[in-house]
Amino acid sequence: MLRGLGVCDGVGLGRALVVCPDKPDWSGARSTGADNEKARLAAAAAAVGRALEEMADAMARRVGEQTAAILAGQSMMLADPFMIGEMNGRIEAGAVAEAAVDEVCGGFIQLFGAAEDELTRQRAADVADLRDRLLRTLLGRQDQDLSAAPAGTVLVARELTPSMTVGLDRQRIAAIVTEAGGAASHAAILARALEIPAVVGVAGALKAIAPGAQVAVDGGQGRVWPEPEEAVRRQLEALRAGWEARRVELARFLDLPTRTADGRAVELCANIGRPEEAAAARGKGAEGVGLFRTEFLFLDRADAPGEAEQLAAYRQAAEAFAQGPVIIRTLDVGGDKKAPCLAMEQEDNPFLGHRAIRYCLDAPELFLTQLRALLQAGAGRGNVRILLPLVTGVEEVRAAKALLERAKEELAAEGKAFDPDIRVGVMIETPAAALAADLLAKEADFFSIGTNDLTQYTLAVDRGNARVAGLYTPYHPAVLRSIRSTIAAARAAGIPVGMCGEAAADPLLVPLLLAWGLDEFSVGAGSLLAIRRVISLWSAAEAAAVEAEAMACADAGAVRACLAAHDKG
Ligand code: PEP
Ligand code: MG
Repeated sequence: MLRGLGVCDGVGLGRALVVCPDKPDWSGARSTGADNEKARLAAAAAAVGRALEEMADAMARRVGEQTAAILAGQSMMLADPFMIGEMNGRIEAGAVAEAAVDEVCGGFIQLFGAAEDELTRQRAADVADLRDRLLRTLLGRQDQDLSAAPAGTVLVARELTPSMTVGLDRQRIAAIVTEAGGAASHAAILARALEIPAVVGVAGALKAIAPGAQVAVDGGQGRVWPEPEEAVRRQLEALRAGWEARRVELARFLDLPTRTADGRAVELCANIGRPEEAAAARGKGAEGVGLFRTEFLFLDRADAPGEAEQLAAYRQAAEAFAQGPVIIRTLDVGGDKKAPCLAMEQEDNPFLGHRAIRYCLDAPELFLTQLRALLQAGAGRGNVRILLPLVTGVEEVRAAKALLERAKEELAAEGKAFDPDIRVGVMIETPAAALAADLLAKEADFFSIGTNDLTQYTLAVDRGNARVAGLYTPYHPAVLRSIRSTIAAARAAGIPVGMCGEAAADPLLVPLLLAWGLDEFSVGAGSLLAIRRVISLWSAAEAAAVEAEAMACADAGAVRACLAAHDKG
């Protein structure tokens, strides 16, 4: 059995289609003169651009804009005058078009490939894919086409490139296995959008799986069996049946309101990272957006997005919901989120450093641009809300609100439409904010509890450090007490309180959060229906009984065991 990272739950059984596209060999190509080579390059770029747009359109129709954006990203790179300009420069210096493409793309691949964050590294794969497409077009070769793959195909590749995406569909592709990639890789995003069971980061998959071999894939646990034994096949068939039954059961909750067993309405929203994910999340049952991580707009690019670009992005997210709230978090860079387009210094303790609201308050022009875009996105709609990350005290909220007032004055003077009553919420994700929640509640229109950071800071455990991963748990009584008192402070102050950290998507914690009176759960789109279902199973009285028992436990293990014993999932 091979192991990797399961990125799309489900079981797939089928025959392997092993795809490892080589970089096209252009060593025989010779320059036919600069003008001619430039014309060849322009023609190839136009043809590839058209093909990418057609693919993106087809993808957008099938699985929504979110996934199509991956392809659109490639065609944007191609449209970037810098890239083509560099290639033309090489041609003028005597290179054949193929060499110009290879060299210029090679530079970008090296640059992106050396980045620390996975999203930027992913761009290296995109550029390599683009390079190979351009080379194939220049050499008159065919692209890889998966649309002819027979039903029951398990796609095995080093990396799932955007070029391979056209023929991907659940009817024919039973599972995806890749050697490269992590949870945020394109393979993972695509697989989840298409709901194809997938395991990424499987070392040695291409060697271990022969073309045409039987392969079994468990996308939930990240397990892959080349030529599985009969016993494994039977076990997986049973797993698949159970999984399909669960999908059908959950589908019932798609159009139901989110209510507890005794009828209390709770808001269920989605966490998104890109504007196009808002509409996709609505299609998966979201009642609004509980967290739009705007830093994704700032990653892997040379210049920060301007006001117009940000406005378009925020408006697109806001328009996905007629009334439901769209909570947009201001820039949360720093820590593990690096944005090369911003000047950020290397720090010894980046999680305790110059990040999030601290960075923004020290870069008022950058912050004002974002606030102006947010204010305008809410114009005439009233559903856009601003969320401030990593707050530790009221002075930060006051300073942010002062800038917001300045942005309003500027917009009013310029005659631009905006939402003058836009609500401003505070993320409770530091122990300081949790302990001073009563004070912050006087400054905030709402709270959103960020348990990912709250857990890390409360327990002094780096959330990205595998060596202490065993200590990182929201079941720790200290974290739970923090959440409980934060919710209590919000309720005492009469402001709504939500949760957008991963703990909101944990079915075991639902009774505690309901007992304390959480108003809103915001979870990844894939968890919406499961959480709606679990919420529907708990009454106030039952939740209170479990809460009393769990909160009497002295350690995380005992809390978890108690919650698991009462699990209704
Ligand atoms: C959190 O910290 O819980 C949170 C939602 O923010 P992020 O994961 O983006 O830091
Ligand atoms: Mg956080």
